[in-house]
Amino acid sequence: MNEIKKILAVLLIASIFTVSGTKNIQAGKSDLIVVLDAGHGGYDSGAVGNGLYEKALTLKIAQYCKAELEKYSGVKVYLTRSNDTFISLDKRVVIASGVKADVFVSLHINSASNPSATGAEVFYPNSSYRPTVGAQGKKLAGEIQKRLVSLGLHNRGLKTFNSMVGAKYPDGSPADYYAVIRGAKNAGFPGIIVEHGFISNPLDAGKYLSSSAALKKLGVADAQGIAACYGLKKADEETVRLSKTKLTKLVGKSSSSVALAWNKVKGASGYEIYRSSSKSGSYAKVATVKKASSVSYVDTSLTNGKTYYYKVRPYLMDGNTKRTAGFCAAQKVKLLKKPAVSVKNQSATRTKISWKEVKGAKQYQVYRSTSKNGKYQKIATIQKGNFFKDTNRKSNARYYYKVRAVSSGMKGYTYSSYGTAK
Ligand SMILES: [Zn+2]
Repeated sequence: MNEIKKILAVLLIASIFTVSGTKNIQAGKSDLIVVLDAGHGGYDSGAVGNGLYEKALTLKIAQYCKAELEKYSGVKVYLTRSNDTFISLDKRVVIASGVKADVFVSLHINSASNPSATGAEVFYPNSSYRPTVGAQGKKLAGEIQKRLVSLGLHNRGLKTFNSMVGAKYPDGSPADYYAVIRGAKNAGFPGIIVEHGFISNPLDAGKYLSSSAALKKLGVADAQGIAACYGLKKADEETVRLSKTKLTKLVGKSSSSVALAWNKVKGASGYEIYRSSSKSGSYAKVATVKKASSVSYVDTSLTNGKTYYYKVRPYLMDGNTKRTAGFCAAQKVKLLKKPAVSVKNQSATRTKISWKEVKGAKQYQVYRSTSKNGKYQKIATIQKGNFFKDTNRKSNARYYYKVRAVSSGMKGYTYSSYGTAK
């Protein structure tokens, strides 16, 4: 080997070590593995009541929960079943062990012979055998229950339930009653059972179990509880900050209306428009433009000749949550008062059109028509002054005149409304 080959060989070996080192580090902080277990399935309908089947509801909740949970980073979600099939309780734990579950969440709907039984409850592993598993399960149960209760479900609390036939864990301590909780603990991870209200209670069933939207809320609550328990953060693309926009146009469209436009912001669902009568005063929302593609707005019913300030911010909808970006810099528009116009015929072919000068106006545009509501044509633009003599008219004809004041707005002209005269 010559020197260069030796150096290359060393570099090659070094790079191999670097790669394998990186892999190890990544394996060290591996994803949280969550197994969601939709209770019952196949010939086992679970509880039935108010026209609903537990096996169908738990599957939907599991799917909504998975979809929500997958918005977070650092988590891998498995379902024990994704269709209407029967799986034994033991098999459910075997599936979870097979994917190296960190946590097992079994989703159920409660039922009781007394139709007034109501609310949510969560069963977690007892603290006898493997107490850290029990403690983790209790923490998770609490995070989920808190969110179900905040949806309005009655709080039946967090519970443990020991074997009624004296079953023991390997250390001789009392075993948990529920097979999936017991099995998960034996396999080394916490298993909990979430009871999402009572299928037998008409109010629970009607409010929390009868629509996809309601079931989605349950699934999302479960997911948020799991995320909170394990400190999961939403993936970057979900928390993407919207950029601010920028006003690109702000002009008076008339003495009492303003036209504005702004830059489109990537990812925005729409835009909110705020207005104030002083730059640093309080701004009030005047409109929400609910279309991502709409980047302009006309604000009407303003006060003749007044000055206004506008600012705009984009927003995006994340589920039912509205996230807003910061406001763009506020911009000013000064509306022009409507000119008061009068006319005087000076001869059969000459008419003088006069108006009161409008504060802020740079020029005046004079329009003429032969009928009041007909088509007006611009016959003059007056840079300075307060009158125009129309000599290009037929004798004995009747004319209508209107005049508007013009000034420069932001990226366009500001116009007053038309002052009219016969
Ligand atoms: Zn059940």
